[in-house]
Amino acid sequence: MPELPEVETVLRGLAPSMEGAVITRAAVNRPDLRWPFPEGMAGRLTGKRVLQMRRRSKYILADLDSGETLLIHLGMSGRMTVSGDPLGRFVHSHPAAEKHDHVVLDIDNGARVTFNDPRRFGAMDLLPTVGAEAHPLLAQIGPEPLGNSFDGPYLADRLKTRRSPIKTALLDQHVVAGLGNIYVCETLYRARISPARRCDRIATSRLIALAPIIRQVLLDAIEAGGSSLKDFRQASGELGYFQHSFDVYGREGEPCRSEGCDATIRRLVQSGRSSFYCPQCQR
Ligand SMILES: [Zn+2]
Repeated sequence: MPELPEVETVLRGLAPSMEGAVITRAAVNRPDLRWPFPEGMAGRLTGKRVLQMRRRSKYILADLDSGETLLIHLGMSGRMTVSGDPLGRFVHSHPAAEKHDHVVLDIDNGARVTFNDPRRFGAMDLLPTVGAEAHPLLAQIGPEPLGNSFDGPYLADRLKTRRSPIKTALLDQHVVAGLGNIYVCETLYRARISPARRCDRIATSRLIALAPIIRQVLLDAIEAGGSSLKDFRQASGELGYFQHSFDVYGREGEPCRSEGCDATIRRLVQSGRSSFYCPQCQR
């Protein structure tokens, strides 16, 4: 499931082909994904220029010159591919249509952007650009972890009285936007905090120190995603899923990588999701 760094990588992959360009043709091949597409979506996209592309949490937003914003959510298994881009970033010719190509956008620069989603947990919507942040999907989301309103004092203030495990609290999208299972595990490992520890039993200074660690974990992953974009001439043109090595995530039973630690990584199930951690380094 894509988390913030994967979505940011998709955004950075799409932007050179879409920003400033006109959608010349929009094919919408089924009535819905997770939710029904907005009425007349193909017509509302056709002929529109993309003014700006941006991200809010795990949503990609494309502001159009019609005053509407196209919202894209990848869901569990959504994939975006770019083909035929004459800018030279993606040299693949347009592939044959695949079974789950639900939305295909042709761009006036020759690029084709395809949204493929076999499990259909993804979503697309059109909303007025003015007030887009008030959309029900976006209104309740907490601050962007890479933005200015997210810092140590804010995070400590939100967490210090909570009785839930820190792992659960960091997955709460009201607290901070876009963090998922993988990057919360990685963050807590770097912060040396046990995923099971209750928020209200963690020293405030450690909660404050968590914010810059979250940023760095995400920035490292975005950098890995950026490197993957450079390889696209050889790749399929598919955006967003990149090779990235994790310190704890998915490493149950393997040795801890911290210097001087001889413990092995353990797995713990919390709220139905696996937490990976080092029992020696994380307290
Ligand atoms: Zn360790």
